[in-house]
Amino acid sequence: MHPKSPDSVICPKCGYDQSGIVDSWTDRCPLRGRCTECGLEFDWADVMDPKRAHLHWYSEHASGLKQMLARTPSTIIRLFYPPVFWSRVTVMMEVRLRWLMLWVLVIALGAHLVASVFVGLGLWTEYGVWKYGSLTLYLNTFGFLGVVRLVFNALFAGIAYMEFNSRGDPYFGFARGSYSSINESWFFLLPYIGIVGLWLIVLMVIPTTRRLAKLRGVHIARAAIISLLGVWVIFEGFRVFIAIDAWIGIPVWLGTAFGWLTLLLGVWFLLFWGSAIRTGWKIRPSWLLILLGTIASILGGIVAIALPTMLG
Ligand SMILES: [Zn+2]
Repeated sequence: MHPKSPDSVICPKCGYDQSGIVDSWTDRCPLRGRCTECGLEFDWADVMDPKRAHLHWYSEHASGLKQMLARTPSTIIRLFYPPVFWSRVTVMMEVRLRWLMLWVLVIALGAHLVASVFVGLGLWTEYGVWKYGSLTLYLNTFGFLGVVRLVFNALFAGIAYMEFNSRGDPYFGFARGSYSSINESWFFLLPYIGIVGLWLIVLMVIPTTRRLAKLRGVHIARAAIISLLGVWVIFEGFRVFIAIDAWIGIPVWLGTAFGWLTLLLGVWFLLFWGSAIRTGWKIRPSWLLILLGTIASILGGIVAIALPTMLG
C-alpha cells in the first residue's frame, strides 16, 4: 500500500516523476532513494508524507493567521543568518507560496506602519520648526488639508508626496522630484534589486546555469519572495533613518555606521542565495553555481547603482 497515489510522487528538488520507481517495488520498499535526474538523496517516507515536511516554528507552514504571526519572531531570527534558515527550510519542506506571500505582505505592511510613525514625527519637526515656525502656525495656515498632507506624506514618503503650491493648493508627485531626501529612499534599493534580479536571471533564464541548478520553480519563487521582503525592510529602514535624522538628528558617526551597514546588507543577499543553493537546495556541485551567481549579482548591483547616474 502506498500512502499517496504513485503518480503524485515527485522529486522534491527538481520535480522529476518518481512514480516509475515506486511502481517497480514489488515485495519490499527501500527506505532511502536517489533521484536519477538531479542526484538528490532522500528518505522515501519524507517524499510520500507531506506532513513530515512541516516546521513548527516557520510562518510559511502555519495553519492560520494567528499562528503565522506568532511564528514571525522565530522565522525572522533564523533569516538573520541565512545558512541557519536554509539548513531547516530545505527542498524537503513543503512550499506554500500563498501563505508565504500573505506573511510577507502582513510583515511589510506592519513595518510600513511602524516606519510611518517615525516619518510623521520627522515631518512634524520639519513643518513645525523649519518651514513654518511652529506647528500651530502650520495648521493655522493650511487647516484640515495640512493634517491630510502630514498623514499622506508620513504614509507615502519615499513613494509619493503631497505639497502645496504658492497659492496654497495641494499637488501630488512621485518619489523623485521633491526636495526631501526621504523621497530618494527607493534609490538606495537599486543595488539590492540588482543583486536579486541577477540571481533570478542566473537560476531561471540562462540555460547553462539553469541546467546546473535543476530546481523546481517553487523553490526559486520562495527565495525571491523572501528577498523581496528583505528589500522592503531595507526601504523602511531608510525611511526610519532619514525620519529620525529630521526629528532629533543622527550623529555623524552613527550615520557612517549605517553606511557600512548598507554594505553588510548586500553581503546578506549574497549569503542568502549562496546558502540556498548549497544548504537549502542541495545542488551538487554547488561551488560553480554560487561563484557564477555571486559574480553576476555583484555586477548587477554595481550596474544598478551606476545606471541612474549614467542616465543623468
Ligand atoms: Zn530530482
